[in-house]
Amino acid sequence: MDTTTPATFSTLPLAQDFLENLSSLGYLEMTAIQAQSLPPVLNGQDILAQAKTGSGKTAAFAIAILHRLQAQSYQTQALVLCPTRELADQVSKEIRRLARPIANTRVLTLCGGNAMAPQLASLQRKPHIVVGTPGRILKHLQKGTLTLAALNTLVLDEADRMLDMGFIDDIKSIIRFVPEKKQTLLFSATYPDAIKKISATLQHDPVSIRVNSLHSNNKIQQIFYEVQKNERTETLIRLLAHYQPESCVIFCNRKQQCQELADALGQQGYHALALHGDLEQKQRDQVLVRFANKSSTILVATDVAARGLDIKDLQAVINFELSPDPEIHIHRIGRTGRAGNEGLALSLFMASETPKVIAIEEYQKAPLRIAETADLSTSGENNHAVAGMVTLCINGGRKNKVRAGDILGALTAKSDINGKQIGKIDIFDIISYVAVEKTIVRQALKLLSEGKIKGRKFRVRKIS
Ligand code: ADP
Ligand code: MG
Repeated sequence: MDTTTPATFSTLPLAQDFLENLSSLGYLEMTAIQAQSLPPVLNGQDILAQAKTGSGKTAAFAIAILHRLQAQSYQTQALVLCPTRELADQVSKEIRRLARPIANTRVLTLCGGNAMAPQLASLQRKPHIVVGTPGRILKHLQKGTLTLAALNTLVLDEADRMLDMGFIDDIKSIIRFVPEKKQTLLFSATYPDAIKKISATLQHDPVSIRVNSLHSNNKIQQIFYEVQKNERTETLIRLLAHYQPESCVIFCNRKQQCQELADALGQQGYHALALHGDLEQKQRDQVLVRFANKSSTILVATDVAARGLDIKDLQAVINFELSPDPEIHIHRIGRTGRAGNEGLALSLFMASETPKVIAIEEYQKAPLRIAETADLSTSGENNHAVAGMVTLCINGGRKNKVRAGDILGALTAKSDINGKQIGKIDIFDIISYVAVEKTIVRQALKLLSEGKIKGRKFRVRKIS
């Protein structure tokens, strides 16, 4: 296959309005994983695909599901299993966007940690597509509240992570509830033996697709810095002051480290948030919302916590600690330098970690650049230390029929606030978040809490 000419979606047997919707979303060319997987998938074959985070795996399976969907038949035709609620939410969102040209497509998200009653109510009308975490899906199957007799597509997204999280038995039990004849699409970021094994049990003659992380289009400037013991935090702060990234994710190997580092950065005047497995779902949502809406410029995360999350416009990735696994290192740094922008990947290592550095060098088959910390500027203002936006939290959401336009209206209709001073608006089931410029926080807080949204008063507070 000629990989130099990018393939357009129009080479696929898709309906015209579907193609138009793709281009309205800015999907002009297929990503590598889409170009390689869509032809066999649309042909009905099982696939076992490996590609890193951000390579466009969701659309690869969503397009196939929607292409086959019989919207006039109210049966569950596709099931997507994801490791976490966040990923399930992301997948549902993407499917809904792609489903815009198909009238009345019902996509339902079913995840653990959410109340059962609303899920049962939603299941009264059968969804066409179900996206969820294995534990909760199995529960519904066992209760008989979800039936998969008409299923034709099963997707395992982030399969390696589901296995890491111990979902293997749940997945095997789910399989007993689905028809033998169906298409199974398995996506994974890494390719350990456990994945080969589960593929062998679930799939029929799958087409193996491996999009090599090394041959990505990402333009990344990668630099390593050697540090002495106890110098990591100080050097990290110097890196931030020197490079002044507008947004960055800092990776640590352990979750305690994340919180400690975020606290240490906070003391230096940075707005850093930690993302790790010990946070409750609501706290995780708030961390991700604030990072994405630019209320915070730094996210300190473990690999597991950051896995699969679609974080846009990341200027830099910093490895506070090197991953012992070179493949994970490549995944980490692949989060920067997307969409044609040059990315920056900075890594700290101690002399004792030299074997890890060599392993990375061998894995990426290209020499590494090691720079001197002495060359980092020591003084100077850091313009990006302080985030420009602040997040306001409104205690009403989708279930209260609150929409982004209502919040925007409440802020701008009777004030001199300009739409440009308002950032991202995120609507959840019973809560919403709006980012506003720091300069208008008090005014915005007053407008939202004293005025009405959708004819109702909501409690509003600032989170920082
Ligand atoms: P993955 O599941 O591989 O981590 P996602 O499916 O979340 O990746 O996609 C990453 C981002 O790329 C998303 O924001 C998505 O909207 C975007 N994207 C996917 N396919 C395309 C495409 N063909 N052209 C442009 N953007 C795309
Ligand atoms: Mg994904």
